[in-house]
Amino acid sequence: MKQIVILSGKGGTGKTTVAAALAHLASQSGSAVMVDADVDASNLELVLSPDIQEQADFSSGKKAIIDPALCTACGRCAELCRFDAILPGSDAYRVDALACEGCALCYYQCPADAIRMEEVVSGRWFRSETRFGPLFHARLYPGEENSGKLVTLVRQKALQASRERHADWIIIDGSPGIGCPVIAAATGADLALLVAEPTVSGIHDLERILKTTEHFRIPSLVCVNKADINPARSREIVEFCQARGIPVVAEIPYDDVVTQAMVRGQAVTESGDGQVAAQVRHVWDRIREMLDKGR
Ligand code: SF4
Ligand code: SF4
Repeated sequence: MKQIVILSGKGGTGKTTVAAALAHLASQSGSAVMVDADVDASNLELVLSPDIQEQADFSSGKKAIIDPALCTACGRCAELCRFDAILPGSDAYRVDALACEGCALCYYQCPADAIRMEEVVSGRWFRSETRFGPLFHARLYPGEENSGKLVTLVRQKALQASRERHADWIIIDGSPGIGCPVIAAATGADLALLVAEPTVSGIHDLERILKTTEHFRIPSLVCVNKADINPARSREIVEFCQARGIPVVAEIPYDDVVTQAMVRGQAVTESGDGQVAAQVRHVWDRIREMLDKGR
């Protein structure tokens, strides 16, 4: 079983379009399990039309709560809290839940045992069936933290399911950027496909994500999406990759068929044999070639 993660240095490059098409091709080349690791704005589900089979709350940690009936308003907790999360009230102190980091120092130091630490529900994860195979996805609630922990959770669930099903592929649609959820999405992957776009910041974004995959020693391939909207910038990306020995496996042209496929809730490879579909098929062939070489 091989794990392939699709990443980009920033959002809007067409990463999920490519991920959905690879999920389709993987399902045709064996059995596949999918992960939508963009837990802050999951959208692979828009294409895969998931039928939810299982779901549960995700707790990212604990926060302090003060029982006003027990608080003697001594102020010790407010003095100790390094995050200024404890505020005086009229009769008792109270915790600003947004500022509380859950360190529990106040809990251990309160002389009146007026503070308790409570689990905070900060999101929800799902196991769904789709036409390409099972999809593990999640939603982090607005303003909540620990997206990396939630990505790790859905990846663990996907890994378990893939072992039970003897799946051939895990296709992971990573989150954009280079932060904690990206690292959680990429860790342990056999190969990363980096989707770049020919914009002013294209090389900079690609460089950032390449540093991340190189740091974690994940072999990487690059495809340039909407390559023909700025051929000069596309050429720069190709040359940048050549200079670093990173294979550029496709230059996907801009085409309205991508939007039309999205509107129909289809992967672009499901709905035709145009240039875009052909290029993504080529990407899939190169991924398989590269993984075969590593065997
Ligand atoms: S340390 Fe305990 S008793 Fe003192 S203000 Fe804080 S919650 Fe109230
Ligand atoms: S748990 Fe830590 S961060 Fe939260 S209120 Fe108590 S001392 Fe402050």
